[in-house]
Amino acid sequence: MDLTARDARHIWHPYTQMKTAAPPLPVVKAKGALLYDEQGRSYIDCVASWWVNLHGHAHPYIAEKVYEQLLKLEHVIFAGFTHPPAVELAERLIGHLPSQQNRIFYSDNGSSAVEIGIKMAIQYFFNQGQPRTQLVAFDMGFHGETFGAMAASGDHSFFTAFEDFLFEVSRIPSPVAGQEQAALDALEDHLKTGEVYAFIFEPLVMGAGGMIMYEPEILSQLMALCKKYGALCIADEVMTGFGRTGRMFACDYLTTQPDIMCMSKGLTGGTLPLAVTSCTEAIFEAFWSDDKHKTFFHGHSYTANPVGCAAALASLDLLESEASAADRKRVEAQHRQFRQRIEQHPAVRSTRQRGTILAVEFESEEATGYFNNLRDKLYYFFLDRGVLLRPLGNLIYMIPPYCITNEQLETAYSTMEAAFSAFLLQEHP
Ligand SMILES: *Cc1c(COP(=O)(O)O)cnc(C)c1O
Repeated sequence: MDLTARDARHIWHPYTQMKTAAPPLPVVKAKGALLYDEQGRSYIDCVASWWVNLHGHAHPYIAEKVYEQLLKLEHVIFAGFTHPPAVELAERLIGHLPSQQNRIFYSDNGSSAVEIGIKMAIQYFFNQGQPRTQLVAFDMGFHGETFGAMAASGDHSFFTAFEDFLFEVSRIPSPVAGQEQAALDALEDHLKTGEVYAFIFEPLVMGAGGMIMYEPEILSQLMALCKKYGALCIADEVMTGFGRTGRMFACDYLTTQPDIMCMSKGLTGGTLPLAVTSCTEAIFEAFWSDDKHKTFFHGHSYTANPVGCAAALASLDLLESEASAADRKRVEAQHRQFRQRIEQHPAVRSTRQRGTILAVEFESEEATGYFNNLRDKLYYFFLDRGVLLRPLGNLIYMIPPYCITNEQLETAYSTMEAAFSAFLLQEHP
């Protein structure tokens, strides 16, 4: 029996309608930006394998560091114990994070990093004897798969089955061009109640909501408003962290800084699951007490896994290199040229970009069902041509590994243009 047949017997894939989806593609190896199937066909990974990969697949330097760590210490309980990779990674991360961040809490995926951030914020007020009850979030935000993260996420059709089970979150408009004042007003209305413990947001680029982009100035203003009312700011940098937006963190564009930050996807360069929730010393101090009830009662079996930390340290080595910085600039410049090239294309409604993240919105007035079909058609159109892209509705985006070559980028770009002609112009003559 071949691999896909065996897969079909026992495996349940994420975000996949198992009845109608085509069989999954068996990938047996990968190198740089390329994935290879059993027949040796290659696919350009333009989505960095769900936004995690930074330096390319099966990177020998990360592999070596992971192997070395595996032979030294594969795992140890992190309550009552510590180990060199966790301490070194905390120190190095603090060096990169905005200046107020001073404490590192480890976990192993982005959703958990968000849960931890929300729980920290709630207990921060609780421990001071002044509990608050409201969380504020953008209407189109996305923060993950667990209950708190689902609740914080905006209007997502994915989560309708769970809607009645989610705690209430106050929504404000996403502050895209033209909606800035509405966002400010809505936020201030919520803050005035004195009940807001935190405002959670994806800084500058809202990924799963449709690569929605907005400007640092308005986010700084929203955050400054939170500070005025004593509410905490939680920056969910799970997608935007580690160079994606052109700076180390999206928060590096801001003039106001968050109290709590969540990181995961690029943390290990896409090698192993690891996440971090960082916070300011002021938050940590609200838990520092002789009273055991003020402890932060949270921890996962694999908290601060040494092998994950070693992969993250290796990834930071690469990320800090001049070669990586040059790659990020190069990808950013290539994206910009491509945007100019397609700007006037009749199938293209708009393009946008922040650093290495490119989004192309194409013309579409049709109902959602149409999109679902078109989305699948586009997905397989790209895959048939050796390009992995996962359109979101009427949006095609690229979040490639930084090592993607100009030739590979060009293949992806021209395949996109071919798709515009093949599908979209037919529908919109
Ligand atoms: C992907 C994502 C998450 C969830 O991370 P997982 O590792 O998939 O649990 C949270 N927030 C943002 C902004 C994300 O893009």
